[in-house]
Amino acid sequence: MSKLARTVSDFLASRPQYTRDIGKLQAYIDTVIDWEAAHGLVLRAPKLDDSTSTAEWLKAALVPAPVALAPSPIPRSEFEKVVALQPALNTLFDRISQDHEFLSATLESLGTSDEFTARVYDMYLKQRALGIRKPGVIGIHRSDYLIDAPESGSHGPRAKQVEFNTIAASFASLSSIVGDLHRYLLDRTGFAGILDAGTISKDQLPENESLTSIGDGIAAGFGLYGRNDAIVVMVVQPGERNVYDQRWVESRLWEKHGIRVVRLTFADILEQCVVGPDNRLFLGEEEVAVAYYRSGYAPTDFPSEREWEGRWLVEKSRAISVPNLAYHLSGCKKIQQVLAQPGVVERFVSDRGTAELVRECFVGLYPLDDSQEGKQAYEDALADPTKFVVKPQREGGGYNSYGEDIPRLLGRISEEERRGYILMDLIRAPGFRNVLLRNGQLVASEVVSELGIYGIWVSDADGNVVVNRHGGHLLRTKASDVYEGGVAAGFAVIDSPLLV
Ligand code: ADP
Ligand code: MG
Repeated sequence: MSKLARTVSDFLASRPQYTRDIGKLQAYIDTVIDWEAAHGLVLRAPKLDDSTSTAEWLKAALVPAPVALAPSPIPRSEFEKVVALQPALNTLFDRISQDHEFLSATLESLGTSDEFTARVYDMYLKQRALGIRKPGVIGIHRSDYLIDAPESGSHGPRAKQVEFNTIAASFASLSSIVGDLHRYLLDRTGFAGILDAGTISKDQLPENESLTSIGDGIAAGFGLYGRNDAIVVMVVQPGERNVYDQRWVESRLWEKHGIRVVRLTFADILEQCVVGPDNRLFLGEEEVAVAYYRSGYAPTDFPSEREWEGRWLVEKSRAISVPNLAYHLSGCKKIQQVLAQPGVVERFVSDRGTAELVRECFVGLYPLDDSQEGKQAYEDALADPTKFVVKPQREGGGYNSYGEDIPRLLGRISEEERRGYILMDLIRAPGFRNVLLRNGQLVASEVVSELGIYGIWVSDADGNVVVNRHGGHLLRTKASDVYEGGVAAGFAVIDSPLLV
């Protein structure tokens, strides 16, 4: 029996509520895996460790992306609400990025607690002091939500914002393809007993334009640069596994817009690029109009000074970086926490109704500094840690503390270090049943889903808005007893919403 067949039979033995027909489930999984391979829904295989020989590794160069075997329910009204809200969030973050006073006061309140954020902030200050002018701004964002189901039943489930990503928001391409996979499975298999398809109609499985929206957004920004023969550099991490999600963006830029993309790391940029006359960035003979970052959000992306120098080369040039430094900083957890304080959203959003809608998505967010509020939050977190999550200024998954880890963390760090963290109310998303397929293993426990809405923003050098729209969605689903939700971080699978 193959490993997967064993997984299937163990799975069926432990989960009698799903189809009892092992042949049927095995065939269903084969259909899913082959469909994934045929449609570019793949990741590069993990290189097990440094001792894995290249030959060994290449035997399984690609693996099917981790997916849910059927879509997961999301309330339609909440889905439509956050999709409609996305342009207002894009505008909000653009205004934050332009408010130097607000950015500097907020980031300086972190003190010396966070070296990485301080470094990005220093680069932002340096760029600002030099008065470097870019031909435009491109924002590729993703606002993430969990559905909060209040126990009291005073109102229905509500989408609550987990965070707003302004840098390297990933999985847009693969997410759209998972939607196609689920629509196909509905038609061809009726979800094979994993989900009762009897009452499901196609319009509950929404189309998802996230496969094209990022490429189209970058192309619109590229147009502002004003040189059709220039290129886009996609700045990538060495050893990236989520390559095909990125290649789909590259294909869109080439096939629809005739724009060439070159993949480089920050270290490659330092080695291969130069800044020439008028601050133009060149890769050999080719002028770089846009540098789209799928790297640069974590300290590990800067293992040495060379990577910082590579980034600075882009930032000091005329090339449009996606995101720019102010956008990158605006996505910090600290900014999110300060935004939740009274009057702060209203500082940026003059329309009261819109500000209200933005606020409705927030849960309680608190500082952990030496302010009165920060001291209170510290006490509250120690008194009942199960109500909260503690977050440092990090992106990419796996850094947060929950439950009993909270007092351990707070006991370990100094008061100065504590300023670098925020406290957030834990959102309790309702669980439901689904089956997740991840690295050849079936996971069938209670699961919860996190909904992400992509946002696309382009404005010109004078601040005129060229594009401001939502750019499709991402659903990530994980076992409900796991706190963290990242796909790349190894916790979740890619899913698609079943609107209910
Ligand atoms: P990162 O930048 O590392 O992605 P996030 O703020 O998105 O940080 O947190 C990572 C994961 O932790 C989320 O995907 C979500 O699953 C979980 N999480 C974060 N905040 C909360 C919260 N307030 N309530 C419940 N789960 C949360
Ligand atoms: Mg996140």
